[in-house]
Amino acid sequence: SYRKGGYHAVRVGDAFAGGRYIAQRKLGWGQFSTVWLAYDTRSSIYVALKIQKSGPQFAQAALHEIEFLSAIAKGDTSNCRCVVQLVDHFKHAGPNGQHWCMVLEFLGDSLLRLIRYNRYKGLALNKVREICKCILTGLDYLHRELGIMHTDLKPENILLCSAIDPAKDPIRSGMTPILERPEGNPNGGVTINIIEKKLKQRARRAVARISERRASMGGVGAHPKPDRCLDGIDVRCKVVDFGNACWADKQFAEEIQTRQYRAPEVILQSGYSFSVDMWSFACTALELATGEMLFTPKGGQGFSEDEDHLALMMELLGKIPRKIAIGGARSKDYFDRHGDLKRIRRLKYWTLDRLLVDKYKFSDSDAREFAEFLCPILDFVPEKRPTAQQCLQHPWLNTKNINQKESKSESSAEKVDVGMSNLKIKDEPWHRQ
Ligand code: ADP
Ligand code: MG
Repeated sequence: SYRKGGYHAVRVGDAFAGGRYIAQRKLGWGQFSTVWLAYDTRSSIYVALKIQKSGPQFAQAALHEIEFLSAIAKGDTSNCRCVVQLVDHFKHAGPNGQHWCMVLEFLGDSLLRLIRYNRYKGLALNKVREICKCILTGLDYLHRELGIMHTDLKPENILLCSAIDPAKDPIRSGMTPILERPEGNPNGGVTINIIEKKLKQRARRAVARISERRASMGGVGAHPKPDRCLDGIDVRCKVVDFGNACWADKQFAEEIQTRQYRAPEVILQSGYSFSVDMWSFACTALELATGEMLFTPKGGQGFSEDEDHLALMMELLGKIPRKIAIGGARSKDYFDRHGDLKRIRRLKYWTLDRLLVDKYKFSDSDAREFAEFLCPILDFVPEKRPTAQQCLQHPWLNTKNINQKESKSESSAEKVDVGMSNLKIKDEPWHRQ
């Protein structure tokens, strides 16, 4: 991937957009891009710099994503809709070609990391509730106001907002912006043009001020640690990754969504709409509460992963109505004319609230209330699923429960880094930090 048409190798201190953004450290990567923490010398804040691979198909994908992010930012000038904000975008020339870059507001860890940090035990329901409110707020904005489907909603694509935002509070975050490549870097010494020099001077003065103020804050110390704990904090998060987003009236892909979060109508190819995001939302909410993915289908002897997936759905949610089962372009691959699966004949029926009580040890009332909130969203009939706006009205989101499970996990399990992650990011070949 680290070649012509592929990733752009970034080193700490690298400058982008004529010196405006300086790379600080790597935050993550995806199939198409690497994402770096960068310091914006013009606005004196940290940002996330998403650097796309350079091949023409990746450039096209980046422009697609920029189109959606621009529409999102335009309709959300007060930045309160729980969707990531695009700050800037530009092209960067490197040895592997031209890379589209997106400058995004800097966010914290993904919900997937949150689940991992919590050792796959699930989060307290009060946290799940707060997270659900944010996701639904984001979906309602995308669906109702913009006519955008995300089509790849999952824990990995929902990022926490830092409790102490290092972008807005560089002093307490304990981070001093890096302004140039560390000394002794053999590839250092790039020509610095005049604009870059001016920006650097300004940034240096800002950094000096930060150090001074930090030193004057006696008790805090020179490099205070960010708050790494979710206890007692209102959890907030935002939806990210619009690489697969589409306009409701301009769909192009038939196979959408990540496997485990895929709606039944996508498997059956019976057409889809905004309600596919609602399905993924329900799967995500359950995963947050239990620590485990709701559906993990596997192909087996004589049956496909798709058929197993449909079987798992029916075991938990009841039989798919015959009309729906046989109504898709691919229905014949899985169902006979009675609406029974062709190869997986014996299903073991369960219900969502039994699953929560028996397997995950929820109290009866917690399980019942949570299942009452989620079951309607997991309706096999897409049109019957409530919209994000309707879900936001649900009583479950506006109650708070205090019980054993709740207090237990609040006090011990959730030590989570919401901003400046300490988690060692696995080095990839293109990562040359
Ligand atoms: P891709 O489209 O290549 O999958 P993503 O947009 O999902 O790229 O970003 C890849 C990873 O980079 C994310 O999983 C996350 O770890 C990190 N990341 C992306 N955007 C941000 C952001 N705004 N703030 C902090 N980290 C981010
Ligand atoms: Mg992604």
